Amino acid sequence: MDQVSHKEVTNKDTKISSNIIKADEAEVLYNTLKETSSKNLSVKILINELKNNGILNNDPRIRSFTNHLKYNLKNNDFITVEEFKIATKECFSIIKSALSGEFVIPDFEKFTSELEEIFNTVKKNKNGAVADYIPQLKKVSAEKFGVSICTIDGQRWSHGDCDDFFSIQSACKPLNYCLALEENGEEKVHKHVGSEPSGHSFNEITLDHMKRPHNPMINAGAIMTSSLVRPDLCPADRFEYVLNNWTRICGGSEPRFNNSVYLSELGTADRNFALAYFMKEHGTFPKGSNLQETLEFYFQCCSIDLTAEQVAVAASTMALNGMCPLTGEKVFNANTLKNVLALMSTCGMYDYSGEFFFKVGFPAKSGVGGGLLIVIPNVMGICVWSPALDKNGNSVRGIEFCQELVKKYAFHNYDSLARSDSKKCDPRKKDAEEIGSNIVSLIYAAYNGDLEAIKRYLIKGVDINQGDYDGRTALHLASAEGHEKCVNFLISKG
Ligand code: GLU
Repeated sequence: MDQVSHKEVTNKDTKISSNIIKADEAEVLYNTLKETSSKNLSVKILINELKNNGILNNDPRIRSFTNHLKYNLKNNDFITVEEFKIATKECFSIIKSALSGEFVIPDFEKFTSELEEIFNTVKKNKNGAVADYIPQLKKVSAEKFGVSICTIDGQRWSHGDCDDFFSIQSACKPLNYCLALEENGEEKVHKHVGSEPSGHSFNEITLDHMKRPHNPMINAGAIMTSSLVRPDLCPADRFEYVLNNWTRICGGSEPRFNNSVYLSELGTADRNFALAYFMKEHGTFPKGSNLQETLEFYFQCCSIDLTAEQVAVAASTMALNGMCPLTGEKVFNANTLKNVLALMSTCGMYDYSGEFFFKVGFPAKSGVGGGLLIVIPNVMGICVWSPALDKNGNSVRGIEFCQELVKKYAFHNYDSLARSDSKKCDPRKKDAEEIGSNIVSLIYAAYNGDLEAIKRYLIKGVDINQGDYDGRTALHLASAEGHEKCVNFLISKG
């Protein structure tokens, strides 16, 4: 510690002293990532490590860091420790947490490689057919397939056709319901729409005993919730309002509007008009609603295009109780989220909703464009996009992906009850009590030859020279088990 900082610490300037501690942590992190043989840290290795832990280059939380690499270092191949400290100054805690396994999925690399295996299994499924009742939708290839995830800590991973924009269709329904709730409150919204599965197909002409559509996840209910979203605005501003809210839950990434899908839908909308007139006849709409405008607004919302990557971020905002993990913006209230997730659980998958929840046990909403917005509360958002649909209107591969997911992982809502007799894995971060002390975990990682885990414990600040109750260190165990890479690494950092 140099003299100036010593003075600052003794002056009890806690802010500055914590900066000094951070600087030391940055050095530990830097040295852990740096290859023993090289003088400086390779930028490629650094970016790769971040990516393996789910922190992508375009993550808004590390923008200051990526900008520094781009503009100040002009994309040099190596970075010195001093430059590293400057570049990571504003986002050090994110980088450190990601690399030291402090995020909700600590071993993100292992988890995503297993997801890739599931993806490859599901890809073989060629069943189902692309929706054709909206003519424009049938132009999309049935072969398309993308899976994207975003955890509540903003760890992201995508595989397959995740940059393609697709028509979200019914996946717009949860957002419109959230907006209606936030603006009008639960009581008013549910005067106009119920919260019960309909037991009929999504566009059936039917109302409940109070003359309301059964729920906001079927067409009649979604037309109703749309009528409750900013009816005070002119049509252009009203639609822009919805787009802006998609941008907010997608972490600042903008949706597109697909005019051909909109015109195609408008031109074949007899059933939706029939539903709206049926509800008008029964006086279900709020006073002053304009039927034509409401329907056009609803079709516009269905004609929004998003990528699987964007939908996964939107779903992660729902998994994090309305706060977007990438921006930290609180978009929706907890109560709103409770309502929408409950209805997605019971009504989100058309006429298959009950069986879907029974089998997979998490909320989801599908659309006839083949998109599936999945929420694993307090863990992550997932989007599966594959346009071939089954007879219920759900993506065939989407359903299979969910089933495979819960076969392997304890993500079903009630898996926690069966924990002791379940063979499923749980990739979530365990509490300290469950994993034991850090030193025991480090030694266990060395025993297993798990170099990545060893690195994470080192970044966390665990002393690698410390021994267990028997005095055995990580190096002892790694050598005894013949894990050469771990041995070399531990010697270089010891
Ligand atoms: N825009 C579609 C309709 O109203 C949405 C259907 C859906 O995705 O379920 O028919």
